[in-house]
Amino acid sequence: MTALPTYNDVAAAARRLAGHAHRTPVLRSSWADAELGAQVFFKAENFQRTGAFKFRGAYNTLAQFSDEQRRAGVLAFSSGNHAQAIALAARTQGIPSVIVMPLDAPATKMAATREYGAQVVTYDRFTEDREAIARRIAVERGLTLVPPYDHAQVIAGQGTAALELFEDVGALDYLFVPLGGGGLTSGCLLAAQGLAPQCRVIGVEPEAGNDAQQSFRAGRIVRIATPQTIADGAQTQSVGELTFALIRQHADDVLTATDEQLVEALRFFAARMKIVVEPTGALAFAGARHGTADIRGTRVGVIISGGNVDLERYARFIAPGV
Ligand SMILES: *Cc1c(COP(=O)(O)O)cnc(C)c1O
Repeated sequence: MTALPTYNDVAAAARRLAGHAHRTPVLRSSWADAELGAQVFFKAENFQRTGAFKFRGAYNTLAQFSDEQRRAGVLAFSSGNHAQAIALAARTQGIPSVIVMPLDAPATKMAATREYGAQVVTYDRFTEDREAIARRIAVERGLTLVPPYDHAQVIAGQGTAALELFEDVGALDYLFVPLGGGGLTSGCLLAAQGLAPQCRVIGVEPEAGNDAQQSFRAGRIVRIATPQTIADGAQTQSVGELTFALIRQHADDVLTATDEQLVEALRFFAARMKIVVEPTGALAFAGARHGTADIRGTRVGVIISGGNVDLERYARFIAPGV
């Protein structure tokens, strides 16, 4: 296992990102405060470049490429926010990028990834192994593969979301973070260590895919089948080795949210806060609202991790009585 990143890596990432990533706003809602009986500070990464926090980890990693790596280019396999983040971060740094995506990935996602400047290589999900394809292309063209979460520089970059939140609002009692592979949660844990050591950091994952909760309780990585959930950014089968090491040591807990609670949260964000949030982006708020943590009377941070959702799908979530 490579060395675990530390708070210093998050602070260094923040310096690299300054002027390149958006410093996203911290939003307040008197509705949320009243309902949770707490002071709630929302870090709105749905307003980040490419619409999700993943630009942070991607940019931080590419900024540390050697000249040789930059010339050859970067490769990622993803059909989601990581793909767009790598594509745009690569373009802004003048690095060629190749994204491996399933043939049946949503056309809008493929188009967006191309618009950000990537070459998209497709494969058949049912007959081909994407990791094998990605490895082959990487070797043939000398590309550097950047994984979506289990990578020290990716983790450090994601942590800058919490670093900015602590800088802007001061220490917090709790910080709730959406959790898929655990990159964002681990980075936020490191930021808390440096800036708010008393803050309890809690990862929130979809109930249908509670592998991280099982892993946290068991003290070893538990793998599950791909979960069925509307939180498509957290449909991971397991956390990573680096992310698990950090979560196991430093997280206060891992909670879950149901799809119904996510839909309720999306409606809350639309109706009360006037913002578009994707289902995965609502995990932390749902966890703070319905979870077991006793947050009354405390100062609570909630990371809204992204806002990328097809409008038709979003309309179905938001439509009343569905
Ligand atoms: C990737 C993603 C997550 C999960 O992040 P991990 O680092 O894999 O835990 C949460 N929300 C959104 C919007 C994402 O794109």
